[in-house]
Amino acid sequence: VIEHGTPEHATVTTCAYCGVGCSFRAEMKGDQLIRMVPHKDGKANHGHSCVKGRFAFGYATHKDRITTPMIRKSITDPWQEVGWEEAINYAASELKRIQAQYGKDSIGGITSSRCTNEETYLVQKLVRAGFGNNNVDTCARVCHSPTGYGLKQTFGESSGTQNFDSVMKSDVIMVIGANPTDGHPVFGSLMKKRLRQGAKLIVVDPREIDLVKNSPHVKADYHLKLRPGTNVALINALGHVVVTENLLDEVFIEERCDTAAFAKWKIFIADPRHAPEQAEAVTGVPAADVRAAARLYATAGNGAIYYGLGVTEHSQGSTTVIGIANLAMATGNLGREGVGVNPLRGQNNVQGSCDMGSFPHEFPGYRHVSDDDTRRLFENDWNVILESEPGLRIPNMFDAASDGTFMGLYVEGEDIAQSDPDIQHVHHALRSMECVIVQDLFLNETAKFAHVFLPGSSFLEKNGTFTNAERRISPVRKVMKPLAGYEDWQVTQLLANAMGYPMNYSHPSQIMDEIARLTPTFAGVSYEKIDRLGSIQWPCNEENPAGTPTMHAHEFMRPNGKGLFMLTEYVATEERTTRMFPLILTTGRILSQYNVGAQTRRTENVAWHAEDRLEIHPHDAEDRGIIDGDWVGIKSRSGETVLRALISERVQPGVVYTTFHFPESGANVITTDNSDWATNCPEYKVTPVQVSKVTQP
Ligand code: SF4
Repeated sequence: VIEHGTPEHATVTTCAYCGVGCSFRAEMKGDQLIRMVPHKDGKANHGHSCVKGRFAFGYATHKDRITTPMIRKSITDPWQEVGWEEAINYAASELKRIQAQYGKDSIGGITSSRCTNEETYLVQKLVRAGFGNNNVDTCARVCHSPTGYGLKQTFGESSGTQNFDSVMKSDVIMVIGANPTDGHPVFGSLMKKRLRQGAKLIVVDPREIDLVKNSPHVKADYHLKLRPGTNVALINALGHVVVTENLLDEVFIEERCDTAAFAKWKIFIADPRHAPEQAEAVTGVPAADVRAAARLYATAGNGAIYYGLGVTEHSQGSTTVIGIANLAMATGNLGREGVGVNPLRGQNNVQGSCDMGSFPHEFPGYRHVSDDDTRRLFENDWNVILESEPGLRIPNMFDAASDGTFMGLYVEGEDIAQSDPDIQHVHHALRSMECVIVQDLFLNETAKFAHVFLPGSSFLEKNGTFTNAERRISPVRKVMKPLAGYEDWQVTQLLANAMGYPMNYSHPSQIMDEIARLTPTFAGVSYEKIDRLGSIQWPCNEENPAGTPTMHAHEFMRPNGKGLFMLTEYVATEERTTRMFPLILTTGRILSQYNVGAQTRRTENVAWHAEDRLEIHPHDAEDRGIIDGDWVGIKSRSGETVLRALISERVQPGVVYTTFHFPESGANVITTDNSDWATNCPEYKVTPVQVSKVTQP
């Protein structure tokens, strides 16, 4: 723990780890950061923090940081250090050469939910205006893109409905495919506080997360321990009980929802094939528990749903999000405190990266690129003609690269060679490209395939904003000079100018002013207001100048103001167990580590969790002669890896589980290319595997 000396000054900024977005005072001695102290006035955390935000900031000055730009002609050549001007000019000339040779659509960009709003906005602007296509995507593709799709369709806005404090007014909390105490610790603690006060808890998860049996006062009333990949069947069964046992909120439905769509859904969901007794054969969850949980959610007062990647990272991720929205509308659990549908975002700025138009089909504010009025608005402001056809999604970029039609890629802050599924395919695609430009803090896995490396800046070295899971836009403020000389937004600006598209911002506040000018839900946002209020929850506009803690209070954001019920037919995933691959692998996170571990592995937090392990049920372990701590080989149709076993009854028989924080664990070597039907979000949560004891690698 780096905690020494008396601070001389402090700057309030926002944690760059998870989607809770805790506010911190970065306490400095001279130009040295000595402590991160949770800020008591932070509206997302109220003075609380977890071990990541509090202690794991040492990566920012870690010796592995690359601070000099580098280029190389081939990925087998050694890197050559160069100045910024040479690196930027080389990158731009290569991208222009590729476009001249292969066509305008042969290049694109990927941004990250690690980046600030302003950086993400600039990357999508560079691609749309500077590259002349819509080939821009974000790592939210592989986590919460189904949230974006499902909530936009049903509620009209791609966001959670509540602020975190709302949970203190909940009477029953349903947690689906999320593990708040590990993934979103500060919010997890707030949830536990409410549970200790007596709120009821329903957990829907294939694995026994901590909340299921946290303490005598915090435990699940119902743990619906379903088989991985059967979320839709379970959510439909809950909806079936609500409809057939007449637990509907008829007044809410009549006043707030599209009643014709509701009538169709009511007939659909009342069909006996959705009854819990029928679903039991699919989900493995006792029908009586499903009936009791549905009654509890519908009748116990304020019912709130919180969900995570266990919902989205499936072939039916979008369908599950829609099913959850149906359930909340049917029971009237929307539009006030204590209720709602709340995606728990993994990374610090998942919400923001989606808001900022980093999907290939949407401008900032979730407006489709084919919409003429929206396009004209951006064309007039950006002084350029824009494409009306959606561009390539990340997996499409990889496919096109393998086909020889996508040859140049600019990646900011995202390690696609480690974090994307079916890694062999990703590596092949990256190897096929003629120019890969990586902008990052470290020489990550993707950099192994790069021709240009542009040093990035950590959250401590730049100004900007992050938007957390409750739509809260919070300040990121520079506490030290960028180690490599530039903030990330400045590097994107240099590249745009070298590509021939002029950008001339002198401060990120000007980028935010442009976002506010062009995005109705951000119309009232400015740095002056963020600094004055501490943070702002969008929508922030003339109607709601101080922001909006609870969405859809009076009407939904859809054109007719009505919530839309949609049909959610269960379709079994193609990822089925076979004699060859008899177990299902699913994945998750642990408190002390963060995602692929690029940051936390370079801090003292490794002391708490130094390796990923494979949780396996005692029966499955015994069948295979595996004892705790044994090395086991895990093989899928995509690849194989080796981990140490952890015998645990937290997983059910037939299911194994691992975290994915260490590259050597190779979790994504074995995940497959199956993905969500609507958004291509990978099906990370369901991978049929075989597990066997091996000798130590
Ligand atoms: Fe950072 Fe999330 Fe921990 Fe808060 S809960 S300190 S935002 S990692």
